[in-house]
Amino acid sequence: MNRILIAEDEPRIVTFLEKGLRANGFTTTVAKDGHEAILMANSEDFDLLILDLGLPGKDGWIVLEELRGQGEQLPIIILTARDEVRDKVAGLEGGADDYVTKPFRFEELLARVRLRLRDNRLPKGKEEMVLSASNIILNLRTRQVQVGDRLIELSAREFILTETFLRHPGQVMSREQLLSHVWGYDYDPGSNIVDVYIGYLRKKLGGNKFETVRGIGYRLRT
Ligand code: CA
Repeated sequence: MNRILIAEDEPRIVTFLEKGLRANGFTTTVAKDGHEAILMANSEDFDLLILDLGLPGKDGWIVLEELRGQGEQLPIIILTARDEVRDKVAGLEGGADDYVTKPFRFEELLARVRLRLRDNRLPKGKEEMVLSASNIILNLRTRQVQVGDRLIELSAREFILTETFLRHPGQVMSREQLLSHVWGYDYDPGSNIVDVYIGYLRKKLGGNKFETVRGIGYRLRT
């Protein structure tokens, strides 16, 4: 199991991150300010740090500088609303391993977390690169999608939505879950975009594959 330290002071984002990471098998601990983040990161109890730049106490830049200054090797992914290129460059030069700009999709962050953990701790190629269920085959490395032996073109969003179902075959996925996984935390929860995209997937991947679970969401038939 991989242990993630989240240094973030905004409760809404903390909840979003913890929910998503736990659903994907990670354990999470939260540091609410920069001092706590440094103390906890030094404890050797974690495999990765997700670091918000706008932290109270000591900001994320200082946290990054102090940790790397102490020779701390923990993989660090910076999370921030600042999207200017110079900040990205500064973050990476300061010793961060990666950079995710708010607002972000959970799947994007998850992909980066997995990548960093694989790079740093696990033997290469250990993670499953091909997902399949219900006669759908998804290659995460080549982004190729097949139904049986037929190649299918999916948009980026359709691909992520399909991936989400293939990671939970047979399981009922609520609209809210799918929204937060595929569209990110700042999407309007009243939106019918999930239903619209399920319609696209039914057309492309087969009308009987996605079962509507009334009042809740959808399930990939297995
Ligand atoms: Ca903040």
